[in-house]
Amino acid sequence: MCGIIGAVAQRNVVPILIEGLRRLEYRGYDSAGLVVVNDELHCVRSTGRVESLARLVREQDAQGMLGIAYTRWATHGVPAERNAPPHLSDDAFAVVHNGIIENHESLRRQLEKAGYEFLSDTDTEVIVHLVHLYYRESNDLLAAVQACIALLKGAYAMAVVCRHEPARMVCVRLGNPLLIGQCIED
Ligand code: GLU
Repeated sequence: MCGIIGAVAQRNVVPILIEGLRRLEYRGYDSAGLVVVNDELHCVRSTGRVESLARLVREQDAQGMLGIAYTRWATHGVPAERNAPPHLSDDAFAVVHNGIIENHESLRRQLEKAGYEFLSDTDTEVIVHLVHLYYRESNDLLAAVQACIALLKGAYAMAVVCRHEPARMVCVRLGNPLLIGQCIED
């Protein structure tokens, strides 16, 4: 179990994400993290409670109008900074995921053959590399997430962002339609 939250607004969403994580902390408290999307992804992770993450976020002055966050209760991979969410691919794509990807080992092997380097022991990391792989074909975050979930076995609710589409967030839950959050430009 864990808690995930995404926020899109015309103001800095970091306070919304942190408050959301505080409310979701009962779902997992071995580590926490967030990503805000600007020209680059600004990722902050911490082992331990949401309060440690909030302190790091203040120190690093992380800000953005679109972001995703997560508070973890580990199922795959020990609680440690390398396994703390969100997981990134190519410093351009990020995912937060609640659930278990049952076929993660075979997907990991295929992705490693394709040249992806894994930085964590989690099942979640396959998702973000798959999205990156399919984005190279479609240049469309929604299409890439659709192609990715077609390969996943198991349970998931997830939110995905990428720096190539900084105003967009794609969220999906097993058995439910895809949702797209988008910043409205002035
Ligand atoms: N399987 C993921 C992990 O271990 C998500 C855990 C969860 O949903 O509780 O990081």
